[in-house]
Amino acid sequence: MAETIRRLIYDLDLPELEQAFKESGQPAYRAKQVWQGLYHQLWNSPDQFSSLPKPLREWLGSIFQFQNLTPDQVQLSSDGETRKTLFLLPDGRAIEAVLMHYDRRKTLCISTQAGCAMGCVFCATGQMGFKRHLSSGEIVEQVLYYARILR
Ligand code: SF4
Repeated sequence: MAETIRRLIYDLDLPELEQAFKESGQPAYRAKQVWQGLYHQLWNSPDQFSSLPKPLREWLGSIFQFQNLTPDQVQLSSDGETRKTLFLLPDGRAIEAVLMHYDRRKTLCISTQAGCAMGCVFCATGQMGFKRHLSSGEIVEQVLYYARILR
């Protein structure tokens, strides 16, 4: 039997998540609980949703992917104020996200594509050429990764 392709849960907005729950016979308020867990508690595994019944946690894990990005390398600047993470995507492509600390704020530079078509000669990403656009969930996941580090 073919394995079900699991959707990346961060690709769904709240109405889409509620719709997915409804189609599977799950009450909509459970979707809101999951939403809170993902974006307030910053959970990234069905096991962390301990307030949900075990069968629901198992169902979540069976139809949704909770991690598309695998942190592969982390580079810190010499002053420790900049942190660059290289993530691997499931298709083997690599992307980067960079967190920069300033006196009064922090800035996060995230990727929206794997590779880049601009070809700036000083840039390693540009030398790769354009590979593909990221899904909205893959972009959101970069933000959540750093939100967990900063909390
Ligand atoms: S190739 Fe140029 S535009 Fe593209 S990521 Fe690098 S610096 Fe930015």
